[in-house]
Amino acid sequence: MLTTQIIIGSLLAALISYLGWRFRALAISGALVATIIGGVIFGLGGLSWAMLLVTFFISSSGLSHIFSLRKTKLSEKFTKGSQRDWAQVLANGSLGVLLVITHVFFYPDQLWLWIAYAGAMATINADTWATELGVLSTQQPRFIITGQKVECGTSGGITFLGTFASLGGAVFIALVTAFFTPQLDFSLTIIVISLAGLTGSLLDSLLGATVQGIYECLHCAVETERHPRHTCGKKTLLSHGWFWFNNDVVNFVSSIGGAAIAVLFWYCFDYSFWLSTQE
Ligand SMILES: [Zn+2]
Repeated sequence: MLTTQIIIGSLLAALISYLGWRFRALAISGALVATIIGGVIFGLGGLSWAMLLVTFFISSSGLSHIFSLRKTKLSEKFTKGSQRDWAQVLANGSLGVLLVITHVFFYPDQLWLWIAYAGAMATINADTWATELGVLSTQQPRFIITGQKVECGTSGGITFLGTFASLGGAVFIALVTAFFTPQLDFSLTIIVISLAGLTGSLLDSLLGATVQGIYECLHCAVETERHPRHTCGKKTLLSHGWFWFNNDVVNFVSSIGGAAIAVLFWYCFDYSFWLSTQE
């Protein structure tokens, strides 16, 4: 039974990754890693686990595709283009892989692993929606810590529209979670997963504003996430943050944060959760 599911899951993951590459949502390296991550999550987790990953992938690639023109002028701020490479895919998907393996092989009756996964997916979806839709904001972003106005595309800069988009991305994942696990209380699932996604994505901005390595191009006199070289070809210097704490590490850490927050919130709202088991 599990073997069949793994074979079908891997084939579906390969197909979706191939389409992602064809439609320029994934670079070649990203498509290969997405095939492995998707294969493990689809194959071991089955439909409910697969649907959260697919919802994230399709909705965020779709938004990114629709608004790609708008982002072109900002592209020099961001480390990478809209085609996700292996490190970006790994940053978004590796926690899901750990959770599904733990769930299937070690703790099949533990509901919190599923809640943690939903919280992690809500976080990365919220973050992606905020990035893709936030650039449409006519309002200048404000720095999450000081509230001062910063340039569009600056790590740690937030706007009302971006925050609203991030809530939308989290609610979307919460709805899919509720739909595919009808044994859970509907309102509780929506509230907890949406809050976890929104909080996780704010954590992402907070990390981007504090510890993320931000570089400076002396030649162009701008801040950038690009390293070792800026778009102009000149070397960039670390301006603040930790050099190894790049955008991918920020995303990975926020997904852990979102997962932990989801489990914590669930515990606060429903004490009997610790006693219950997944069907
Ligand atoms: Zn430059």
